[in-house]
Amino acid sequence: MTPILTIENLQVEFSTPFGAVHAIRGIDFSLARGDILGLVGETGCGKSVTGRSIMRLLDENAKVSAGRILFDGMDLLQLTDTEMRRIRGNRIAMIFQDPATSLNPLFTIGEQIKDVLRAHRGSGRGGAKALAIELLADVGLPDPAQMMSVYPHQLSGGQQQRAMIALSLAAEPDVIIADEPTTALDVTIQAQILDLLRRLQRERSISVIFITHDLGIVAETCQQVVVLYAGRVAEKGAVETILARPQHPYTRGLLAALPRPGSRGNDLRVIRGNVPSGFERIVGCAFAPRCDYVMDICRAQNPAFSVIDSTHHSACHLHEMPANG
Ligand code: SF4
Repeated sequence: MTPILTIENLQVEFSTPFGAVHAIRGIDFSLARGDILGLVGETGCGKSVTGRSIMRLLDENAKVSAGRILFDGMDLLQLTDTEMRRIRGNRIAMIFQDPATSLNPLFTIGEQIKDVLRAHRGSGRGGAKALAIELLADVGLPDPAQMMSVYPHQLSGGQQQRAMIALSLAAEPDVIIADEPTTALDVTIQAQILDLLRRLQRERSISVIFITHDLGIVAETCQQVVVLYAGRVAEKGAVETILARPQHPYTRGLLAALPRPGSRGNDLRVIRGNVPSGFERIVGCAFAPRCDYVMDICRAQNPAFSVIDSTHHSACHLHEMPANG
């Protein structure tokens, strides 16, 4: 099946008074229709910049220096601002970690959702109100009719995130990009929001890019995963395969650092060292300074992707070595 969204060799730089910051150094992946794809990695690996590049919501000092973002036969990077405005929010929506940045504090939740319904679906007054109540019920907000007249600040963090999801759904998008949508919430509410996203993806066949630093959430929520490291893809493929048989030393390190039932704090392994700074020019494998398996070739050549199986790819020189025996 043709993917709904394909990223090809995306490269993004920020200009700063101290020089260029290479936030994304060439990443490729595809989002299949109806899938939830986890984009995972440590802070600064380029997850959020990827999401914002798709939405064309990068800061003014950022520029896409190479690559294509293909959506429904169009390269989003080639669209005019007017064409992109029709896609943004309408066909591709984004949910942020802090819903307060997207909900307008001056308008009630009901007014905000009705506005989107009128703009995107052409709903009339009565129709928009009934649909807005339906959406608020669908995202599990209590007493949805009464919720219509509530302002964002009157809601808890979890309720705000549900209202934000209802607002995104109002335009019936094909793709939702969820950027750490549960990080600021307590564990119980986090689990409820993840359940909600999974249910909506199933029932409405929405494709989702779920940006997170938490592989545990990826395991519970996503079908596909792309592991980013220093603005490049280290490993990508089906979640169950990668969690069961990770091939890239960085993915293995991330998994070894996950708490497991019965494990104590001192059983957890940490990956030594730090992610390279965006200012650094990286020759060879970006993970080399932290890797237990580093070889001479790793410091000289950026590894190409090896096909582990048809759905599983890993960028590591170890896969190019002849198998023993
Ligand atoms: Fe480690 Fe080399 Fe593989 Fe990079 S290419 S992850 S340094 S073994």
